[in-house]
Amino acid sequence: METVALYDVDSTTPNLALARIARAEGEKGNRVVRYDPTEPLLNAGRFDRIYASKIFTRSDGRFLDPERMEIGGTGVDLRKTLPPEIERLPPDWSLWPGFKDNLGFAMRGCRRRCDFCFVPEKEGRARPASTIKDLLVQDSDFLILLDNDFFGNPEWRERVDEIHRLDLTVNLSQGINVRSITDEQARALAGLVNARPNRGGSRLTNLHRTRGQFHFAWDNPKDEARVVAGISRLDAAGIKRWRMACYVLIGFNTTPAEDEHRVQTLRRLKIDPFVMPYDPDDARQARFARWANDKAIFGTVRTFSDYDGTVRYRPEIAAEPSAQAVLL
Ligand code: SF4
Repeated sequence: METVALYDVDSTTPNLALARIARAEGEKGNRVVRYDPTEPLLNAGRFDRIYASKIFTRSDGRFLDPERMEIGGTGVDLRKTLPPEIERLPPDWSLWPGFKDNLGFAMRGCRRRCDFCFVPEKEGRARPASTIKDLLVQDSDFLILLDNDFFGNPEWRERVDEIHRLDLTVNLSQGINVRSITDEQARALAGLVNARPNRGGSRLTNLHRTRGQFHFAWDNPKDEARVVAGISRLDAAGIKRWRMACYVLIGFNTTPAEDEHRVQTLRRLKIDPFVMPYDPDDARQARFARWANDKAIFGTVRTFSDYDGTVRYRPEIAAEPSAQAVLL
């Protein structure tokens, strides 16, 4: 029996790739443990193999050691993927004892090619990856779906039916593409959002299951007409505006005026904006995100120029929609 260690460098949700490796190694009869880089002396030479996953390019990778570790994840290499025989395995979450729910991809890829995004290069065209039923490996009715383009899946109707039939609550962690939503898809979404009128609940919730809300993105100012048209389709299908939240990417190829225009437009539309700084270390971007993402601040300080930056940042709110956090 070999001892295999899993090093999760920076995931903010349980790491699906490592959980699949845990399953593969466990099925070979190997002992699988988590790797703690803060114990280098204890760790030295103890393991037959170490698998490391780094999701974010900007996170701290100083403990990564290519001499001792097999390293993957979008933070280090877009092209590296799990071998197909491991990618097919259900995750083994036993090394994540706090995680009792389910998580996975019903589809891979995306129909679009946004300049800043690695998904088209890494995953290619939109295609089915799994049924919903096959993603349920733990005894929970909550599923975090990592699909980058839920309605780009040619089998989206079957997946929606399954969510209803299995009586699930789902977080669409990467949101929906409001720019290309059709009337039929808007009605399907409304069916999920308004599924439980007597239980006060939506089948779609945020990541922490605290709010019956789903999200989409408005990253390119030029998409305004298409975003607004998509919102109108959601309205017509019977989805209340408070159910919607909108990611706003700033600092990639937009001007400060375009950033403010988007969040102020969302304010007028009564849709929560959630600003994603392209460079969180950039002082203006970080400050703009602080202003727009904290509901209490945004609700009372009407323009960014009025925001003096002295109100305390609330990371629990900032951390809510984890667009990038779960990409593997
Ligand atoms: S940002 Fe979203 S819509 Fe654009 S390519 Fe990436 S996954 Fe697709």
